[in-house]
Amino acid sequence: MKTAEELRSALRAIDHRSYPAYKSLVGSWFFGTYTLNIERVQGDPFAAPSQLSVTVDNRTAGFPLNCWETPWNRTALEDYLLRRFARQAGRFSRQAKGSGKSGVLAVTTPGQEVLERTDCQVRAGAVTLRFEVGFPANGRTINARELEKILFDFLPVCVGQGLLYASAPKGEVEQIIHLAEDQHFIREELARLELAAFVADGSVLPRESGVSDRSMKNAVPFQAPESMAVILDLPHRGTVRGMGVRRGITLIAGGGYHGKSTLLKALERGVYDHIAGDGREYVITDATAVKIRAEDGRKVTDTDISLFINHLPSGRDTTEFSTLDASGSTSQAANIAEALEAGSRVLLMDEDTSATNFMVRDELMQAVIARDQEPITPFLERALDLWQKAGVSLILVVGSCGAYFHIADKVVQMDAYHARDITDQARAALEGRSVPALTAPGFHLPTGNRVIDLSGDSQTRKNYRGDGYRQERLKVKCFGKTAFSVGDRELDLRYVEQLVDGGQTRTLAYMVRYAREHLAGRSVDDIVATLAKLIGEKNLGAVCGGGVVPAGLTLPRAQEIFACFDRY
Ligand code: ADP
Ligand code: MG
Repeated sequence: MKTAEELRSALRAIDHRSYPAYKSLVGSWFFGTYTLNIERVQGDPFAAPSQLSVTVDNRTAGFPLNCWETPWNRTALEDYLLRRFARQAGRFSRQAKGSGKSGVLAVTTPGQEVLERTDCQVRAGAVTLRFEVGFPANGRTINARELEKILFDFLPVCVGQGLLYASAPKGEVEQIIHLAEDQHFIREELARLELAAFVADGSVLPRESGVSDRSMKNAVPFQAPESMAVILDLPHRGTVRGMGVRRGITLIAGGGYHGKSTLLKALERGVYDHIAGDGREYVITDATAVKIRAEDGRKVTDTDISLFINHLPSGRDTTEFSTLDASGSTSQAANIAEALEAGSRVLLMDEDTSATNFMVRDELMQAVIARDQEPITPFLERALDLWQKAGVSLILVVGSCGAYFHIADKVVQMDAYHARDITDQARAALEGRSVPALTAPGFHLPTGNRVIDLSGDSQTRKNYRGDGYRQERLKVKCFGKTAFSVGDRELDLRYVEQLVDGGQTRTLAYMVRYAREHLAGRSVDDIVATLAKLIGEKNLGAVCGGGVVPAGLTLPRAQEIFACFDRY
């Protein structure tokens, strides 16, 4: 491997030359305590910055073995190191000057969730951290002195202060690992105690604002009603009391603005672990839980929605239903069918974002419109079978629809942000009232094995490059968390609400490209399984199918990978 001093000479040799000469720096350079890898160099100062990484051997980094022994510890350590490194890098960004993106030193800043990422990986006894640097220029002329500042003055500080055990405040790394172990412990307890979710006392559920995911200040802390209290003995934090949401059918009821949706939102996010100080550190939901909502206009391919929709006026088959523009109820039916195929054991629903005609049909409507004139079997008539025959739990927010009291195992009222168990009152209120139909004939689980059309513009374009035709891979573009395009096809993921990080969307885009290149004609189940195997055997970057692994990939859950392909 070439040394840092050789890099310095190489830099000085290309100073004042035209920008593309920077490309000669690609490679690995040994800096004594770490290796600097220049992975990809930008074409000009205005393009996306160059991608670099540093690798520190753990003999230097010095993290105790228990920090990276288990996948959950390792992910927590990686997340922590990324945040530390990002804080250091933030001090130096733009300190080196020049045109365009010159001097940018950019590191992914994770949000509130702790997720596996390509930006920081602790593997084989070494820490690797990926980031971007805008290689400095004056106009389009290389300013190597400024890059020398970044690589020789700033970066060693970022590594020294950000990536070494010795530079972390005493006890901080242990706190990170202990939290990860406690969170993992709660996840395992959920299964043992047959809980769908756990919300610890003292949790802060509301967020600062619609655009900030940080915890609200001066919020009313969560407190479990006595009848639902579960006490867990965490390995590090010790005894923790909280609300155990049993598997089965749970309603979250209450007046408008009393905190129902806020609780559900916290449960949606509880499939991921949260950082210390978030307020939701000990809000843990079954990791397969899926938020179900109406999603007018989504694409549906060969999905069995016959559990909910039958005898359409068009006479179309609903066991293999396809549309480019689903209605509120058909989209919600498809979302449930797909969640079941994706192995979800808990469905999370909010009346506010559901299609009314999908949820219930009241008595009066049944009297006026005969059953055989209505294609929809309301969810009310399937929820009980889903739980009793298929073991799929439901947590449903209701504000106006009392019919669900008939099937609820538990009713929690949110009353000015205080949770109360009102199951008995709800039952008492039902006495003497007529019972609507609570099940419908024809219950079955939807069959999967859907094959989606992955075609689009030609899989690879051929480009003439002077020296002959060369295959070009499909272009991947991401639009934040909500959409991406691969080649000529775009996908909108705005309503896949448990996507929480732009990096997950980016990974999905690369997964789609991988599937288009290698897995066309396979079923969605098969694609998801193949991708999981690929990542398990290699690493997250393997979804790029070769070439430089881009910064900023974050692992999505299998449920979101399904959701992506199901909509493609
Ligand atoms: P609902 O779904 O019952 O209508 P929301 O969950 O949307 O109510 O909450 C209404 C408002 O109350 C939101 O602005 C939310 O941020 C705030 N809120 C929710 N829970 C709390 C709490 N525990 N403490 C303070 N404010 C809260
Ligand atoms: Mg609400």
